[in-house]
Amino acid sequence: MPQSAERTLDHATLFREPEYAAMFEAKRDAFECPHPPEKVQEIADWTKGWDYREKNFAREALTVNPAKACQPLGAVFAAAGFDGCLSMVHGSQGCVAYYRSHLARHFKEPSAAVSTSMTEDAAVFGGLNNLVEGLSNASALYDPKMIAVSTTCMAEVIGDDLNSFVIQAKEKNGFSKEFPVPFAHTPAFVGSHINGYDVMVKAIVSYFWTREEGDPTPDQSINIIPGFDGYAVANNRELKRMLDLMGVPHRLLSDVSDVYDTPTDGTYRMYAGGTTQDEIKAARHAKATLSLQQWCSEKTLEMIAGTGQQTQAFHYPMGVAGTDAFLMAVSEATGQPIPEALELERGRLVDAMTDSQSWLHGRTMAVFGDPDFVYGMTAFLLELGVEPVHCLSTNGGPAWEKKMKALLADSPFGTNTQVWPRKDLWHLRSLLATEPAEFVIGSSHGKFLQQDLGIPLIRLTFPIFDRHHHHRFPTLGYQGGLRVLVTLLDTVLDTLDRQTADTGISYDLTR
Ligand code: SF4
Repeated sequence: MPQSAERTLDHATLFREPEYAAMFEAKRDAFECPHPPEKVQEIADWTKGWDYREKNFAREALTVNPAKACQPLGAVFAAAGFDGCLSMVHGSQGCVAYYRSHLARHFKEPSAAVSTSMTEDAAVFGGLNNLVEGLSNASALYDPKMIAVSTTCMAEVIGDDLNSFVIQAKEKNGFSKEFPVPFAHTPAFVGSHINGYDVMVKAIVSYFWTREEGDPTPDQSINIIPGFDGYAVANNRELKRMLDLMGVPHRLLSDVSDVYDTPTDGTYRMYAGGTTQDEIKAARHAKATLSLQQWCSEKTLEMIAGTGQQTQAFHYPMGVAGTDAFLMAVSEATGQPIPEALELERGRLVDAMTDSQSWLHGRTMAVFGDPDFVYGMTAFLLELGVEPVHCLSTNGGPAWEKKMKALLADSPFGTNTQVWPRKDLWHLRSLLATEPAEFVIGSSHGKFLQQDLGIPLIRLTFPIFDRHHHHRFPTLGYQGGLRVLVTLLDTVLDTLDRQTADTGISYDLTR
């Protein structure tokens, strides 16, 4: 074999060696019933045409490669943003392995969560015993300050009642009544991770608020709900920096910035940072709660508004106008002016956009991802003079579609944009094959579109598995806008260099 102790090859090189090439070919012949290459090519070409696109869009009972994850993943992410909080997912182990690996692959950090490990017997008789034992073991082993319980498909299909189970489990385990075990039902066969995020934030916040006595006494502080955000590590820090500059007392309701960015210094931190229980209680007296992602927080904001607190939601406010709107809302709610330091940052972003305007103006791009991300990203593209061709969100619904169309109608660059709610990445393949864009913006899942259609992918949203550390740099605020601008430009200019390298014409040193 080509691999030996003296000659160690990376897998990308190793599997091209003749021995492996022959082995793969033999495997294909023996087990994969291969068709002739010409036939495969013929079908591949046909699936890129209008005829196939119509058939693809006629499908109703099948989703192929959806750009979303299931509800409990969002619940685990939200729970990780609270101090000392351990996620316990009531259901099968494999599901929890998926959430943990999904988050770990993106953040390159361990992601703690436990499972009640339901198997066949629990599926028949119910998972009460699993929850009782699970709570007892998790509490003894991992010493959390709070355990947040969510559910997988399995527990939801058999109808396990978390409220009753948690009460019984606490009694049987001799838990103090004060030990917080908030819970949220997160049926994975409806909604997506953004709904799981929403119901878990609501469950944790309402758990503490409903145990407080007396009416809220509003102070000058504000609460921020960041929403499910793959860039939360840097974005949450950027938000806090901007609010500190404004002199606004604030707290984030779920702050994962430290737990997904622990230092390597010889100490493993299962819990790091996060919103404390005292902060959650204090959040009840805030002047306002602002959510950065409406579709990640609809139920939570409804609950908060029900207490009489002022609420407002944004759609992942990116770029100049998005950041302006957010900061002005903060200023309006608190009476604090926007400081000169932030005005300077704004001016620098506008300056950078102007410097690079000629390279982005009129470029065509497609965007896919969560509904708030697609909205915020599209708004920034329109500011840059980019023409979005397709905006697709598997977990975006009719309300998202309506808002997107209103946004696009407001800009000359949005005239030809098509909005695609409830569509998956196999739909996007058909769209890009028939009505192409020059670039695609989305998650790592878009790399197969790039491979198949030759359209360069710009990674700007969760999950990013195949590139490292993007989440360490903000995408929100004026500083984040700069980062996004550079990311777009790098891909546009790299592509131009590749396209011009063969002739040398316009292969320029200065762009
Ligand atoms: S969709 Fe259901 S089975 Fe699949 S990971 Fe999510 S909870 Fe588990």
